Amino acid sequence: MKILPLNKWIPGLTHPLIMAGPCSAESESQVLQTAHQLSTIPSVRIFRAGIWKPRTRPNSFEGMGETALPWLEKVREQTNLLTATEVASAKHVELALKHHVDVLWIGARTTTSPFAVQEIADAVKGTNVAVFVKNPINPELALWMGALERINNAGITKMAAIHRGFSFYEKNKFRNPPVWSIPIELKHRIPQLPIITDPSHICGTREFLQDISQQALDLDFEGVMLESHPNPDHALSDAAQQVTPARLKEIIDSLLLRTAVSGDRQFEMELEHLRRQIDTIDNEIIDTLKNRMTIVEKIAQAKMKSKVTALQLGRMDEMMKKRIDAAATIGLDTTYIEELYQVIHSASVKKQTDMMNPKQ
Ligand code: PEP
Ligand code: MN
Repeated sequence: MKILPLNKWIPGLTHPLIMAGPCSAESESQVLQTAHQLSTIPSVRIFRAGIWKPRTRPNSFEGMGETALPWLEKVREQTNLLTATEVASAKHVELALKHHVDVLWIGARTTTSPFAVQEIADAVKGTNVAVFVKNPINPELALWMGALERINNAGITKMAAIHRGFSFYEKNKFRNPPVWSIPIELKHRIPQLPIITDPSHICGTREFLQDISQQALDLDFEGVMLESHPNPDHALSDAAQQVTPARLKEIIDSLLLRTAVSGDRQFEMELEHLRRQIDTIDNEIIDTLKNRMTIVEKIAQAKMKSKVTALQLGRMDEMMKKRIDAAATIGLDTTYIEELYQVIHSASVKKQTDMMNPKQ
């Protein structure tokens, strides 16, 4: 995938890229006031504002639509910021381009729909606009990659992916809990693709914005998107998660910048030493898993002889409880152990069913 590095097209870029602005453009004065305040923060390079708002339920504020586009043009003229808005159809793209919006982003709900993404891809073909793609609502890498590929196939090279967390049925302290392994895997597959984290939509409240922003930087992602409103409590959408430009500056100033490589020889040696220990332990874990699997095979033989099913829920619950208790006793995170044992246990069940039903 040919992708232009951010510093080739974002003037004055420093690491990390901060993209900030209100969830929604509400009025010309709100847009201009926010943009002028944000433009005094040097790392803020892109001004975001939603114009067409995809709302989960009807009767919520659905954005100012076309009326708001000239306000974004004024932001471009009056500040040093690039502008960005969400598009969900060819019509949105056409209107946004007419008003010189620099960055279009595809929202999480739209990324889930290949038809809509293809329509957007066809509409941006032959233009020089930048397109950022948010992860789909559901934790599926293929859908995210598919949308990125459709846009790239249309000849767009100014691109980035945005991690805004995923939607789960279970209640969580986050509105859209992050699943870092997914953007990390995306980075492995497309190393030249910049990744931006959207702490506002991950958190849903102001409380953890700083933590999530820091976590994104610690993962060496390229930027952060944060929602900012002059009067957050009265915002027409996403009021609970927006912060004033002044608070946004505090959050940005508090972020620690760590580098992926260090020039410090002592540190490099220490890290190398620790990594060798990790390698050794991981090899031991793999040997132990092999031993465990050998016993699983013996269990399968015994079950086959006695005509007993591979999966026995009672045993699974009991085993899981024992492992979680053991982890808690020695101070290991119990969710980590529970998730790990779910994987280990399902591999065991699969082994047993495969043995019971050998392929012809
Ligand atoms: C937004 O950025 O305002 C937005 C609607 O985000 P998402 O698509 O991540 O829900
Ligand atoms: Mn929002």
